[in-house]
Amino acid sequence: MANLFNIITQKLAFFLVASKELAMEKETFRLLGHQLVDWVADYLEKVGQWPVVPRVSPGDIKNQLARRPPETAEAWADILADFNQIILPGMTHWQHPGWFAYFPANNSPASILGEILTAGMGAQCMSWQTSPAATELEEVVMDWLRQMLGLPQGMAGVIQDTASTATLCALLAAREKATGFLSNRQGFYQPLTVYASDQAHSSVEKGVKIAGYGREKLRSIPTDENYALIPEALEESVREDIRAGAIPACVVATLGTTSSGAIDPLRPIGEICSRYGLWLHVDAAYAGTAAILPELRWMLDGVEYVDSFVFNPHKWLLTNFDCSAFFIRDEENYVQTFEMHPEYLKTAQDRLVKNFRDWGIQLGRRFRALKLWFVIRSYGVQGLQAMVREHLRLAQLFRSWLEEHPLFELMAPTTLSLVCFRLNDGRPEDQLNLINRRLNENINASGRIFLTHTELRGQYALRLVVGSRTTQESHVRQAWEIIRGEAEKLAGQK
Ligand code: PLP
Repeated sequence: MANLFNIITQKLAFFLVASKELAMEKETFRLLGHQLVDWVADYLEKVGQWPVVPRVSPGDIKNQLARRPPETAEAWADILADFNQIILPGMTHWQHPGWFAYFPANNSPASILGEILTAGMGAQCMSWQTSPAATELEEVVMDWLRQMLGLPQGMAGVIQDTASTATLCALLAAREKATGFLSNRQGFYQPLTVYASDQAHSSVEKGVKIAGYGREKLRSIPTDENYALIPEALEESVREDIRAGAIPACVVATLGTTSSGAIDPLRPIGEICSRYGLWLHVDAAYAGTAAILPELRWMLDGVEYVDSFVFNPHKWLLTNFDCSAFFIRDEENYVQTFEMHPEYLKTAQDRLVKNFRDWGIQLGRRFRALKLWFVIRSYGVQGLQAMVREHLRLAQLFRSWLEEHPLFELMAPTTLSLVCFRLNDGRPEDQLNLINRRLNENINASGRIFLTHTELRGQYALRLVVGSRTTQESHVRQAWEIIRGEAEKLAGQK
């Protein structure tokens, strides 16, 4: 009896503590939630005041963090104080108006609000049943994007985490298609080959490696003076592989290469794919967003040949990371590569609905369509077009300053918002790479802008990409002043 009494009082005590904590948690959450939205609003307004890249060395952050997890709950005041004192000073500020590095990962208030709701609802959207609205919104919003880019009717969209994952999925689907969905076992043992330009992103090689083709089965096709894939060289490579007994499976064309923004010509590539039965995947991770402008739709000439297409709203379409839009021409065949039907996942609606768990590698899925829907609705297509047009204008303006200045050399065409250039003060070629590396370091040391580099035909090139939501002409002018000033200093030291 005493035992039972003990158990009951213990349970009661636990219940009282738990419900008190729950009430506290609710109050704290409400209070902190409001404060943190204010924090984010202020951050976005003032992000330009931070150095774009933090001045920290490897280990600096780790050394300030507790190495063991806390045994008991900590006060929010302490947790947030550590965020402000340890984490924030170690962050790189991707939303900074002086962000000109890599490609952008721009976000927007609309997208952030969408993420708050997604996190708040905490839904796991693997199938229609596990969140009907999430599935159906994803279908609709992806079709909006398809229309906005002018992709062919009938292409079906799914949101992936990244372009790398989407490209891997395309390579897996292409592999299955080339082997007759494993029914044609005879073909399965023949080597399968993949083709991409020598400027393709490393995610293509990574995908080829993971998908089991073998890295050596990736053919690196030469590019022309604009760094675009040469279709004749592609066809020659395909024919050579066929003669050698391989099965050419997939071409990955790039719209907007990472190094220089080059655009591979889709039509002739598509004609080759159609002639030899290859899967054509398009990696438009960065440049796809630009296709929302009718004046840039020429990039998509030949898109009717495309089997799959990926671009990243998380790069240039104001939708914060992660959100990668992946479109597939033949959804029935595509899904065969990924679908699994264990008993515990079967639902009564399976025949009637899309279950996006069958559209990729992962089972569990985040509700990413919500933020995209918020972004498209709150800016409207015209608002998004205006942003992209402005970024293109600013890139051209920057390019025109480089063109007029005797110390600079342009390294590639500026088709979109990426400008590749280097300092060339006439010193011998073998010293130019070194001096340009120094130039990049000196520019970034200012903390006011951040640029990254690439190599084009063995030459070190600086890249300036305009794509931050907050970047205005004044910021590009400031970037130019810093770049020109540092270049003139280095040239003066010759
Ligand atoms: N493809 C291209 C052309 C890219 O420039 C990038 C990244 O910048 C990627 C793919 C990889 O994108 P993600 O980070 O979404 O995998």
